[in-house]
Amino acid sequence: MTEAPAVAPRRRFDPLPEWVHPATWLQHGGRRPERNAGAVVPPIYQTSTYHYPASFSEAAGSGDVHLYTRMDNPTQEVAAELIRGLEGAGGARVFASGMGACSTVLLAFLREGDEVVALHDLYGGTIDLLRDTLPRFGVTTRWVSPDESTDPTAAVSPKTRVVWLETPSSPLLRVHDIRSWAEAADRVGALLVVDNTFATPINQRPLSLGADLVVHSATKYLGGHSDLVAGAVVGSPQLLERVDPVHTTIGAALDPFAAFLLARGMRTLELRVGRQNANGLRVAAELAGHPKVERVYYPGSGPASEDETARRQMSGRGGVVSLVVRNGSEGAQRFLRQLRLVHVASSFGGVESLASVPAETSHRHLSSEELARRGIVPGLVRLSLGVEDADDLLRDLSEALAAV
Ligand SMILES: *Cc1c(COP(=O)(O)O)cnc(C)c1O
Repeated sequence: MTEAPAVAPRRRFDPLPEWVHPATWLQHGGRRPERNAGAVVPPIYQTSTYHYPASFSEAAGSGDVHLYTRMDNPTQEVAAELIRGLEGAGGARVFASGMGACSTVLLAFLREGDEVVALHDLYGGTIDLLRDTLPRFGVTTRWVSPDESTDPTAAVSPKTRVVWLETPSSPLLRVHDIRSWAEAADRVGALLVVDNTFATPINQRPLSLGADLVVHSATKYLGGHSDLVAGAVVGSPQLLERVDPVHTTIGAALDPFAAFLLARGMRTLELRVGRQNANGLRVAAELAGHPKVERVYYPGSGPASEDETARRQMSGRGGVVSLVVRNGSEGAQRFLRQLRLVHVASSFGGVESLASVPAETSHRHLSSEELARRGIVPGLVRLSLGVEDADDLLRDLSEALAAV
């Protein structure tokens, strides 16, 4: 083809009754046996390109045609459809990584002179993108401190095009009021983007609280097995129309095999997150009074207003708990060395429990000043609780804490 091809229209999935709950949606959404040789499990379309009748534009009119996997692929669509339904959105797209999703959204909606409003407590990669890359294109970020974060109206201005919110946030699990940020963004005509990676749509649905777009690192809970890297952007078809051309040209397309793993992993999302919520709650409660633990962070454990907000906007608090252990980074090292079940590794959201030190992993690009400003102290350890038996986890954690 010589002309720049249009993005092929998305194939539609047969709708399920609107009364189905997430657990049911996850089993029946995105299946299309009649188009897949009767296969109950959607197959992996491991192809870069597709046959089309001699005229592509004619075929595209039929709404069921693909052109090239960097643009779209039926296996990607299954994963996107599952996420779309869970977030209660009009559309969703999957990406090769969470950062691919974040970068694409920012590039799609920002231009020179625009301002992003972002809270201090964000994922390290997002901070790098806003702090190091976007300024080269004339986009600035106004950083909002934890104290200022309770007054969204004062944080935004007519220059603000995008408000970027992560709640619960990395790595201190602060809870921010999505509805009041949505109102503030609305007032100045800015888009509110919520990174819903920590909560998952099982625990929190930002679009129902006024957010315009949701982004995910599907690497974490959505995939859920620490065996893939993926991202997603979720929102209205109108906003996704702005995202699609950048998605295509930036080249962060999810490989079909990873898309298959993502959809497969998501079938058990509701079960996994239920167990992880229970394990998180139990570990946070039991370690709160531990003599070797100076402080426990868990969504809603900060100021009382955060607990109230969490009650309003979350149906579960998640499986990530951060601890400040005694004796700083030496204490943290001793703790990690003694763990027998919990693996020492960055990332979170998998079925197996992990522990990591944010200052050395997700936030290692920050100066010590920036770390301090964000409350990321040397003894801070982030635990991602998996789906193991809670008694076993507590035993492993307590035995390792004894060495701190
Ligand atoms: C991991 C993560 C990202 C980046 O996702 P990748 O899949 O690693 O590219 C973005 N936001 C949050 C909150 C994350 O935890």
